[in-house]
Amino acid sequence: MQNKQSGFISGTLSSWCGADKIAGAAKSILQEAEESIDRHVDLNVFITTCKESAQAQAKASDEIIRGGRCRDLEGAPIAVKDNYCTLGIRTTAASRILTNFIPPYESFVTSRLLDAGAIVLGKTNMDEFAMGSSTENSAFGPTLNPRGIALGRDDIVPGGSSGGSAAAVAANMCLAAIGTDTGGSIRQPASFCGVVGFKPTYGACSRWGVIAYASSLDQPGVIAKTVEDAAIISDVICGHDARDSTSLETTFSKLTDCLRTDTGSPTIGIPKQFRDLTISNDLERLWQEIESRVRKIGAKLVYVDLPHIKRSLPAYYIIALSEASSNLARYDGVRYGFRAAKVTGVDDMYERTRGDGFGEEVKRRILLGTFALSSGYYDQYFLRAAKVRRLVATELGSAFEQVDVLAFPTAPTPAFKIGAHRSDPTSMYLEDVFTVPVNLAGLPAISIPGIVASNGLPMGLQIVGRRFADPHVLSIAHKMEQALDA
Ligand code: GLN
Repeated sequence: MQNKQSGFISGTLSSWCGADKIAGAAKSILQEAEESIDRHVDLNVFITTCKESAQAQAKASDEIIRGGRCRDLEGAPIAVKDNYCTLGIRTTAASRILTNFIPPYESFVTSRLLDAGAIVLGKTNMDEFAMGSSTENSAFGPTLNPRGIALGRDDIVPGGSSGGSAAAVAANMCLAAIGTDTGGSIRQPASFCGVVGFKPTYGACSRWGVIAYASSLDQPGVIAKTVEDAAIISDVICGHDARDSTSLETTFSKLTDCLRTDTGSPTIGIPKQFRDLTISNDLERLWQEIESRVRKIGAKLVYVDLPHIKRSLPAYYIIALSEASSNLARYDGVRYGFRAAKVTGVDDMYERTRGDGFGEEVKRRILLGTFALSSGYYDQYFLRAAKVRRLVATELGSAFEQVDVLAFPTAPTPAFKIGAHRSDPTSMYLEDVFTVPVNLAGLPAISIPGIVASNGLPMGLQIVGRRFADPHVLSIAHKMEQALDA
């Protein structure tokens, strides 16, 4: 009997949720997850594992399974990015400045997961304060890409900033993982690790208890093995929360119910200005794959004109860094975590705490953001970027009058080597060209596996919808995912 219940960790969340579980099943899947975590310890996926609390959660789940009334995620092992505050569990945002921070409260998203019966396995590695596209900017060292390891390469990044979460899913350490997406940090690592990453409409999922990077862009979301699994988790974590002033009161109907609704023959748009960006054979092949899958699902393909979309990247990097410089002012050595020792006075304490506590990339961004907000430059940078943001959002809004969803690559390249952008850190910002417009406009978007590039690593494609079209985005992505095997 026990044997029948094993092997779930390498399967999907939906098969776990749909299984007829017997008492002991939660304990047994947790054991499988822990074995996988131990086997892959070299990938450096977790900053903190929660062995004791996970055991207690599995025990409670088994009691409930015995009673025969499972909750939506009963016993499902989930990994959580380390920028979600977890009650009594160290939460670092991969920063030295928060190395010893133990939150006195639980984030909205993790409370929802726990209330639905999930088992929180641990806190995953990330770029410090979610600033980066590779998980190299972590005070705890980089995470390795399991898809690279499978090719015998131990020098490939998993993407970022939710690189630990994507690697945990790809290496079957969990059934799904939680990430955050400010400018692509769920979709791009999903693309790099060959899994699915879904960012709901901005405001659909409360940011309460998420360590802030750029509040007008930050969005919780999910990394999973399939579109259906992403829908299952999203149904649990989306919803109104009065503690987040940008949380939406009404959103959309149950996503899992919408997955199999007939999408008819949708019109799918390809942004012309992006289609022209074919910097490599791999990217060209990915475009062709997108076009062919659009046809395979019986959709109509049109090319849409988005003349301002290319301006998204510079606008994003002004807005995100400006907001970050303000959000990170709270780390002053007085209220949270790390404080420099042997200081000569209060100014010295602030300077040394922030100087030693933040990593290079975070300091670079605080400086750039502070500059963009400073008097005399505010109009030239921040205000202009805000205007570009409005233009991009309006332009995308009118595109959705012609098409149901847009489709384009998630990232211009497959995963790269550790250190590839070290000599010119801002060159990494270009990796985000296809992801940031979505955040500027607050749209729902999902990345699903697209092609295998010439170096053997995966590249994802994105489906993007208008605000609140999350059900539509998921049902079209679900069809496109099936078209992969067709
Ligand atoms: N790579 C982008 C950045 O560094 C996006 C990060 C994110 O979405 N958190 O800002």
